[in-house]
Amino acid sequence: MNKKVRVVSFDVDGTLIDQRFNDLIWENDIPALVAHKRGCSFLEAKKFCLCEYRKLGDKDLRWYDVQHWLKKFGISTSAKDIFKRREQLIIVYPDVLPVLRKLKEEGFRVIVITCMPRIFLKEKIKKFDRHFDKVFSTISDFKRVKSPELYRHISKVIKTSPSCILHIGDHHILDYEFSLEAGYKSILIEREKKTKDFSISRLEEIFYFL
Ligand SMILES: [Mg+2]
Repeated sequence: MNKKVRVVSFDVDGTLIDQRFNDLIWENDIPALVAHKRGCSFLEAKKFCLCEYRKLGDKDLRWYDVQHWLKKFGISTSAKDIFKRREQLIIVYPDVLPVLRKLKEEGFRVIVITCMPRIFLKEKIKKFDRHFDKVFSTISDFKRVKSPELYRHISKVIKTSPSCILHIGDHHILDYEFSLEAGYKSILIEREKKTKDFSISRLEEIFYFL
């Protein structure tokens, strides 16, 4: 084992939790409410919503905030209600718990770095949050999305040199490139379809990098 890595950091959506839960909220539930509100078809509403999401982009922290979108689209249903209705569909990837247990056994500190607002994050990881030494929601804790500066800042908060932290996430820029730029060791995970030679598709593969 490379002694240098002492902290292992995980993104959440698409890394620990099946991304399809999110897709359902963004691509089905919100458009359905918009269709009802505007009196248009579901498909028209979906096209409209996806276009609005794209216009803002995932580097803007409002993009992650369901409440922002509900307000923007003039919908009175709360984000919490939408989330509660789908709660049973939160799927933790089956390789997550064995990997978290093994990391603990091997003496690593384990943290989470996600852009997800804490209101959702808490629900999503509540079944296994005992495995984490620290959980950072960049939006709730720092009012920012992931950036190289923010990764560096988090390394200071946890009093660990960036080169001793390994971050694993499924977003090529926000997870892989930005953490790498901050001096972390970094792994891109592509669970559904591998598009990069250097990515992994199963979480157990991180042990080759430790
Ligand atoms: Mg992700």
